[in-house]
Amino acid sequence: MYLFKLVADLQKYLDKLRKDGNTIGFVPTMGALHEGHLSLIDKAKSDNDFVVCSIFVNPTQFNEPEDLVKYPRTAIQDIEALTSHHNDVLFMPPVDEIYPEGLDTRVELDFGQLDKVMEGEFRPGHFSGMVQVVNRLTNIVKPDKMYFGQKDFQQYTLVRNMLSQSASPVEAIMCPIIREPDGLALSSRNVRLQPDIRGKATIIYQSLLKAKSLLLKESKSELVRKMALHDLAIKDFKPEYFEIVDGNTLMPVEDYSESDYIVACTAVWAGEVRLIDNMIIKSPDNNLK
Ligand code: AMP
Repeated sequence: MYLFKLVADLQKYLDKLRKDGNTIGFVPTMGALHEGHLSLIDKAKSDNDFVVCSIFVNPTQFNEPEDLVKYPRTAIQDIEALTSHHNDVLFMPPVDEIYPEGLDTRVELDFGQLDKVMEGEFRPGHFSGMVQVVNRLTNIVKPDKMYFGQKDFQQYTLVRNMLSQSASPVEAIMCPIIREPDGLALSSRNVRLQPDIRGKATIIYQSLLKAKSLLLKESKSELVRKMALHDLAIKDFKPEYFEIVDGNTLMPVEDYSESDYIVACTAVWAGEVRLIDNMIIKSPDNNLK
């Protein structure tokens, strides 16, 4: 695996690969890699000739300065994991390579409601930082395809919208959520969960499963939403939102029959750690869960 820290060096290497007719898959991450991230590398590897993974803890998407400081950084283990998954290129830039002085990297697009609901409401500024870094990284790497986890469903929806608004030739691909055996979605933040809280964190997955089966029976989402919020409010847990939305517009869906693409999305404080998760309740693509 090649490791680059500088944009110019990375681009020189990738230009040569492209000139030789190779396709490039790209997996942007913030590191502290787990099986969720590695599933994206595997998928990118199976679809493309070469895979680039970036590890960059993007300061502009952290709305809480403390969250940025506490974000786990495990470069050596990450390099080992990527090597064992045969990742080809690792890009680990310093902050001033991504945001050099004098370069305006902000993305001035109108996303309508997509960046205002759910995560947008509870993490002000998060999405403007996220689209800024994804746009900058995409312009640097110029991949054929980019891979994102369904785990961050709203993020994927926004990226897809950004690529479409800017008529980008890059294809964004969503990959399924990888979970622990008890259903907890893998997350770099899980290492910060206290053991007793970790033991109870399966409640988040259980609430999504229950919402899915209830919505199929009850049809009305408001009742299902309220039940989920109630179920999630156990000791040490505090749900921030539980929404049942249209998978394209992210607007609330009132009834099971209202849309052919329905996703339940939630954010829950588990002690001091904020976790997000979601489940596709109804999809035009039967492969999505
Ligand atoms: P992050 O490092 O948290 O920014 O995540 C990098 C990418 O990995 C994003 O596209 C995430 O959606 C994806 N990802 C994170 N956790 C999981 C998971 N449990 N399963 C699948 N993909 C994931």
